[in-house]
Amino acid sequence: MQKYAFLDRDGTFLWEPERPEGVDPRETFPLQSMDEFKFMDGAIEGIRALADKEYKLVMVTNQRFLGTPKHPKEMFDKVMAKIDEELEKYGIGFEFKMVCPHGPDEGCDCRKPKIGGLKDFLRTHEVDFAHSLMFGDKATDGEFAKNLDVRFVKIETNQKFELPSDI
Ligand SMILES: [Mg+2]
Ligand SMILES: [Zn+2]
Repeated sequence: MQKYAFLDRDGTFLWEPERPEGVDPRETFPLQSMDEFKFMDGAIEGIRALADKEYKLVMVTNQRFLGTPKHPKEMFDKVMAKIDEELEKYGIGFEFKMVCPHGPDEGCDCRKPKIGGLKDFLRTHEVDFAHSLMFGDKATDGEFAKNLDVRFVKIETNQKFELPSDI
């Protein structure tokens, strides 16, 4: 069995654009340009430390409106490629990426907190749930961890990415 670190992306290890006050919390605010691309403090070191501790890495991210003018696929692809490129410099990478492009009202089974986006992954990988972790900044990430039956590690949105001291 293999232990995994599941990681939310936006606001957890990658800086997420601030939301204007009073908008629908389900609205999406993707990066507008690559100038805005930045890892959160401690993210590279923390992810590297997870790899050193023999966790394999899986990204789990909801990307509402992906592929629409509000959230162009081209920009999304650039961001994902840049993440891979930066992590590769440290010899690390994601084994799998779960990306839900759906909205909350579309009834898909891959939008967190649902875990349907990991169905195929879970079928083909022996996950050590008892020793795996889910890092996220939102309540839905916490529910996702619960649904997956792994420990949740709460990160403050756009703040420091830190590992729990007892892993
Ligand atoms: Mg997030
Ligand atoms: Zn979905």
